[in-house]
Amino acid sequence: MPITVVGSIAYDSVKTPFGERERMLGGAAVHFALAACFFDEVRVVGPIGEDFAEEDLEAIRQRGVDVSDVERVAGGKTFFWRGEYGWDLNTRETLDTQLGVFEGFKPKLSERSRESEVLFLANIQPDLQREVRAQLPHAGFVALDSMNLWIEIARDSLVQAIAEVDCLILNDAELRQLTRKPNLLSAAREVLSWKPHDTELRGPSVIVAKLGEYGAALITRDGFFALPAYPLESVIDPTGAGDTFAGGLVGYIAANRNGEITDELLRGAMAHATVLASFNVEDFGTERVLRLAREEIGSRLEELRAITQFSGTP
Ligand code: AMP
Repeated sequence: MPITVVGSIAYDSVKTPFGERERMLGGAAVHFALAACFFDEVRVVGPIGEDFAEEDLEAIRQRGVDVSDVERVAGGKTFFWRGEYGWDLNTRETLDTQLGVFEGFKPKLSERSRESEVLFLANIQPDLQREVRAQLPHAGFVALDSMNLWIEIARDSLVQAIAEVDCLILNDAELRQLTRKPNLLSAAREVLSWKPHDTELRGPSVIVAKLGEYGAALITRDGFFALPAYPLESVIDPTGAGDTFAGGLVGYIAANRNGEITDELLRGAMAHATVLASFNVEDFGTERVLRLAREEIGSRLEELRAITQFSGTP
């Protein structure tokens, strides 16, 4: 089932203890698409500026991603983000965010992008997420990611945006900040109780809390599941790990969904998401995922399965 994604298409400048890169290809929608395209057809919606290199667009296109709804704004500047990580790669400092062409952007989706059964609202201004959501009222599965910036400056819109989707994917610290609850489970329960104004919509039923290098937890109305991150000795740059995780999760659901979103389907999605994210952090930005081969995903998935199994009776 084709997936439509809206979110930042960006240039990122990043410094980690292992090196730095200036203006590398990034953005939440880009990281998402490069992971999700291993599973299904992906259609990216969003603006880029005049400064966006044709070869970067071509790199995304080469992976089979549909970029026909990526709009180049004459005279505009591409979204830019600068961040720095210390030795604890779970936390980072945002040094600069320039919305550029996202300021005043009005998403106009092509008929093709509006027909997708699955929608991912990647991290961007929550009102924009809602505008896109409104253009796919009948999508069968809609997921959303966000970040501390939007909790701080646009919380009310974000709460509404979340109430209008099926699945929220958020860092654990952000989930606590959003709900003002110190406990992860009660924070997730709180979000599960949010109701959309539009009674045709269902409200969130799946919460995924990303725990950085410790993995991720899945909370539904009657289920709980968690996986550790795939253990790696060398992590170079975590930028985009969350979006790559979301790409694995939503991509797997789009490709394997057969009506109901079951806990079994969600567990499989969590495993694929974990594996995709583990590749992303092995190099700067999109570099590792852009050279990732399908066979590598399969073998790491088997290793993840082996390290998360146990036996023994009480
Ligand atoms: P992640 O590491 O998964 O949280 O995602 C990092 C990506 O998010 C980078 O490629 C940035 O370009 C993008 N990003 C950072 N801040 C924002 C923001 N305020 N809105 C949208 N995208 C952002």
